[in-house]
This record gives sequence, C-alpha cells and structure tokens, in this order.
Amino acid sequence: MDSPLDTFRTGRLRQAARALEQNNFEVHLAPDAEAARALVLDTLIPALVKDYGAKSAAFGGSMTLVHTGIYDGVKACPDLRVLDTYDTSLPQYERIQLRRQALLTDIFLTSANAITADGKLANLDGTGNRVAAITFGPKHVIVVAGRNKIVPDLNAAMYRIRDVAAPVNAMRLDRKTPCVKTMRCEDCSSPDRICNTWVITEKSYPKARIKVVLVNADLGF
Ligand code: SF4
Repeated sequence: MDSPLDTFRTGRLRQAARALEQNNFEVHLAPDAEAARALVLDTLIPALVKDYGAKSAAFGGSMTLVHTGIYDGVKACPDLRVLDTYDTSLPQYERIQLRRQALLTDIFLTSANAITADGKLANLDGTGNRVAAITFGPKHVIVVAGRNKIVPDLNAAMYRIRDVAAPVNAMRLDRKTPCVKTMRCEDCSSPDRICNTWVITEKSYPKARIKVVLVNADLGF
C-alpha cells in the first residue's frame, strides 16, 4: 500500500500532467528514472523515427538527462545522427557551432528548470541555446523533469530557479559568481553570470511539439 506521501506526490504529478495537457503539451508519466529512460529510448524516440522520419538529435544542458542515462542512450541510438553538445573536449568555437546546428535537429532533448502547477514551463538560460530550441527550431522537443521541478506558480518558479537551481548550476560549472559563496542569487554583473534569458512556455505550439515526461523522482537541480 502506498504511503500518504507517495499518494500525495503521485496526485501532484497527475494534476500537473492534466494542466500541461490542457496547454497542448503531450505528457507522459514515469514512476522512476529507469522508467523515464525506457519511455524515451524505447517508445518516444522510435515513434518519432518511424512516424515522422526523425534522423537527428541534440541536447540542451540538463543533469536530468545525464543522471537518467537518457543522454548516453540517445548517443548510442543507431537511427539518429546525434550532435553531442555536451562534449567538453571540443574547442569552444566548435561547441558553439554545434549548439547552432542543434537548433535544426529533428529531436531536441532537455529538462525544465521549473513546471508550474497550471502547466507552464519556466527556464532561465546562460547562453540561450536551450530556450531557443524549446521555443522554435527542432521539430520535436522532449522535456524530462523530476517531481522536484513542480512549483505552484510563476513566482515560485522564478524563486526556485534564481535562488536554488542557478547557484547550484554555477557551482557545478565552476563559475566565479557571487552566488557560489553566498548560496543565493545576488543578481550579479559577473562575466561568468549564467542567468541571461528567461523563457516561459505557456503552451506547446504546434500542439504536442513539446513532449513532457514527468518523473516521480527528484532529478536535477
Ligand atoms: S544572476 Fe549571478 S548571482 Fe544570481 S544566480 Fe545567476 S550567476 Fe548567480
């Protein structure tokens, strides 16, 4: 029998799923990270290859994709030409070029910084390639997000992103920003600032272009 906390979490996830569907997102629920990986690699991507002739894929920065194994799984997919935008061995110029090319791929995979209970995606980018691709360019977008990304509203989303996700990401990226010392956003003017472009996706356009996989586990920051 599920614990009250399990019931609560599942209920919250289903509510968010319904709200996202009302906003024209295609939504899938996964009970854990392994199920999310299987769903993306064994169902969603094969369907896009078979039904829409998808041939290429790329990634927007996301620890969720790495931790679920989706990143490695997509790279091993024989049906896709994969632009590895995470490859830090490449010179900076080539990495930027790959991010530009990623805007024209068939499938773009990423996560969201926050998802509101009324079904909107909230993202804050440093370079902007991730929010650009979510908005326009790739034919299909797959967003994988853990339950920890669900927040009540846009105010809560912006608080979560600026005061939790961004400082943690600045630490992960070894940025010389004040938040890595104060553990809070200082709205800095640092050259290393990673918070430059907000995008709120209120609805998927065209309908179902953006597919959201909501995972009943804490993933990413
Ligand atoms: S604006 Fe600057 S201080 Fe604030 S979270 Fe972003 S990088 Fe850190």
